[in-house]
Amino acid sequence: TSNVTTARDNAPLLPKVKNIIAIASGKGGVGKSTTASNLAVALASAGAKVGLIDADISGPSIPTMFNVEAEQPMVKQENGKNVILPIEQYGVKLMSIGFLTPADSAVVWRGPMASSALKQFIGDVDWGDLDYLLIDLPPGTSDIHLTMVQTVPVTGAVIVTTPQKVALADATKGLSMFKQPQINVPVLGVVENMAYFTPEELPNNKYYLFGKEGGQKLAEKFGVPFLGEIPIVQSIRESGDTGYPAVLKSGITKESFSLLAENIAR
Ligand code: ADP
Repeated sequence: TSNVTTARDNAPLLPKVKNIIAIASGKGGVGKSTTASNLAVALASAGAKVGLIDADISGPSIPTMFNVEAEQPMVKQENGKNVILPIEQYGVKLMSIGFLTPADSAVVWRGPMASSALKQFIGDVDWGDLDYLLIDLPPGTSDIHLTMVQTVPVTGAVIVTTPQKVALADATKGLSMFKQPQINVPVLGVVENMAYFTPEELPNNKYYLFGKEGGQKLAEKFGVPFLGEIPIVQSIRESGDTGYPAVLKSGITKESFSLLAENIAR
């Protein structure tokens, strides 16, 4: 028994949003935000209405990954209430703390403040009709995760990991968290990022820099689907830095992220 009320027990806050999908990882730096942004664009490219919340309050990277770092959202009045209009880029509606704080300033917030920022991103933003609202969570397990499940009925969580032992150990913790009774969010599956490297001059060779099939084994261990693998590709990193998601270009990255979007949309 738990005294935590989750949003599943209450009337939904976002009745016009069909699916709310959390993108989580155990460790930082495994490519969670890269996956979230490319997945959002892949779903939008397939015709879905998509929103993306950057819930990484102390390390927001979505504005950079979408090349909208200088944007500031407009606020309108609706029934005497302030409503924030999300920033739209590549067909995806975006909200991030990065739009509301000066660039280069460190956001040092206590847990409750970060949690209230997430609540605002969910409740005070004009998301409209959406097929998917993705929530790019901070790494690990935090107040934010609890706030999320208490605020909105989360359809499912996607766990991003690299095949490396230390990343998998943390991903295991992240995955178990979603299964705990007080969180109780279905795990849609595991994505293995940085799965292998293929040099351009040796297109048939795969080098498993971080180990092989760790993500698949994690999925098997927990009896959840394996959603796909994303190779290490220099252009994925470059695309993140220049703010033009790799899935918008052709090639292996477009294929892997599009396949991931198909697996999640099922
Ligand atoms: P996280 O959100 O887990 O902290 P990021 O998405 O910010 O991780 O990714 C960390 C770094 O790794 C970024 O510089 C990103 O561009 C790079 N990166 C992520 N996935 C890949 C990949 N598949 N290939 C190449 N670089 C990647």
